[in-house]
Amino acid sequence: MKFIADAPLGKLVKWLRILGYDTLYFREKGLTRLIERAEREDRIILTRNRHLKRLSEGKKSLFITQNQPSLQLREVIQAYNIKKGEEAFSRCLVCNHPLQEIARKEIEGKVPEYVYDTQNDFFTCPQCHRIYWPGTHLQRMEEKIDTLCSEVE
Ligand SMILES: [Zn+2]
Repeated sequence: MKFIADAPLGKLVKWLRILGYDTLYFREKGLTRLIERAEREDRIILTRNRHLKRLSEGKKSLFITQNQPSLQLREVIQAYNIKKGEEAFSRCLVCNHPLQEIARKEIEGKVPEYVYDTQNDFFTCPQCHRIYWPGTHLQRMEEKIDTLCSEVE
């Protein structure tokens, strides 16, 4: 299951990436180009744009009604029975690329010292070279996702 979302849904895009879903953030102009891309790559269209909703009728798409990102995520979870699987936290939040594990010694000096001293597992994005590690922020996100997923069940 892959998604494509348009401009006002940036936060939702981030949440879906956290959950491990390949989610393209389409910020270019041209609704027909968005639809073409969705069909070519077999992506589900997520949108708040009524015009796009009309254009994508009969195609795989979901019109998002909520304003708040966590409620938007709940709409998607509900519509597609999304679960937090093993893929969660395996994707770059910025560019959607799958992360790769990186040896601890390779990131010395590239992350804050206390992070280096307290963490063992590090991951990097081959595209933008950001470094990720499991931390407290991740724990909080996980709790939030668990809450959202259980509310839907
Ligand atoms: Zn990246």
